[in-house]
Amino acid sequence: MIKVAVSGAGGRMGREVVKMVLGDEELQLVAAIDPGAQGMDAGRLVGAEPCGVIIADDLSSALLESGADVMVDFTVPQAAVQNTKIAIESGVRPVVGTTGFTRDEIDMLDKLAKERGIGGIIAPNFSIGAILMMKFAAQAAKYFPHVEIIEYHGDQKLDAPSGTAVKTAEWISAVREEFRQGNPNEEEKIEGARGGLYDGFRIHSVRLPGIFAQQEVIFGAFGQTLKIRHDSYDRAGYMPGVKTAVKKVMELKGIVYGFEQFID
Ligand code: NAP
Repeated sequence: MIKVAVSGAGGRMGREVVKMVLGDEELQLVAAIDPGAQGMDAGRLVGAEPCGVIIADDLSSALLESGADVMVDFTVPQAAVQNTKIAIESGVRPVVGTTGFTRDEIDMLDKLAKERGIGGIIAPNFSIGAILMMKFAAQAAKYFPHVEIIEYHGDQKLDAPSGTAVKTAEWISAVREEFRQGNPNEEEKIEGARGGLYDGFRIHSVRLPGIFAQQEVIFGAFGQTLKIRHDSYDRAGYMPGVKTAVKKVMELKGIVYGFEQFID
């Protein structure tokens, strides 16, 4: 049994993690932390039977008292770095999905984890399907250098293009000989109609209510197109990745950044 603490248990992702841990025979929920939901039973919070784990507001004492092996963190960037540091210093392996860590912060946490002799995983995307989509796209780009990316998200998303689209573009660029595709005399009649330019190819961001997260990578060549598409409909789609990370982290030393390291 791996003893798991969930930080940010009351959030959208945190609640999915609580459900996943309660439903897995190899995992045991021993602590749940979220100042906004303090005092509630974690099972009840996710619409399940009460499980006896009461949501706490202080991470250090919750980790100490629960004897957790792993802390899963889906909180906010301002809190997640400190939470990860506290977990490592308490000898608890962090599995972090919160986005926004800088390279310097990851290096600092890696050093700390190695000194403590434990592992950790920080991954901005735990969706196995999305990672495979990016990997397949990078593979296809070797043979089909003419490519465009279209990503779709809800209308309240602040950043465009999405982090996944940027990462896909980086992976494609790493294997694609750089050139400016399309007609050199092309003229946009409406500004932005051809999308954002990244190393000679285009990224388009669609923002509409009702959409969760989707991405399509389209390759064009004489007489054929190839489309690689991933559709996310629900946060539950991240849970197989989080579950794998919770189990893998027990064998690691130091911080692994990016869940793609575990997808062959
Ligand atoms: P959310 O619904 O806002 O949940 C964040 C939760 O963390 C809230 O309940 C918040 O409580 C709580 N919180 C804030 N500070 C805390 C602290 N110091 N200790 C414990 N809990 C704290 O956000 P979300 O949609 O779940 O997303 C969380 C993070 O995961 C974001 O960074 C998002 O980008 C990322 N994410 C990653 C993946 C992935 O695959 N890696 C997938 C989806 C999302 P209050 O509301 O009371 O402040």
